[in-house]
Amino acid sequence: MKIFGINNFTFKEIEDNCLNPDNIGLGLILKLDKLRNTLRLPINILDLNRLKHAENSYHYKLPCSAVDFRVIGDIEENKLLQAMLDVGFKGIGFYDTGFVHGDIRPKFALWRRIKGIYYPMF
Ligand SMILES: [Zn+2]
Repeated sequence: MKIFGINNFTFKEIEDNCLNPDNIGLGLILKLDKLRNTLRLPINILDLNRLKHAENSYHYKLPCSAVDFRVIGDIEENKLLQAMLDVGFKGIGFYDTGFVHGDIRPKFALWRRIKGIYYPMF
């Protein structure tokens, strides 16, 4: 099943990565959808709010305001960062496990997580 206005992600992909798909902000998924169009590479959603995140994480905001994902294919980190900024992500994290966090907090934040430790980059 398709979600109105979303071309690259199915409702099932959202549902499978979310405790309550009713609480997913469409704005978040729209940004991810635009990112997919920009990159022209597949994006796997790894988690919306189903897994354990920091207590105050944007993953737990209502509606859910953060997504963890993996880009399938070869992309330079700085190009991915620029593309994420272009579509309006504000909180961006690069993790040594190969996935990327994107959220829609009001102020820009950029960090790297290596072996579970967060290193602010901005
Ligand atoms: Zn995350």
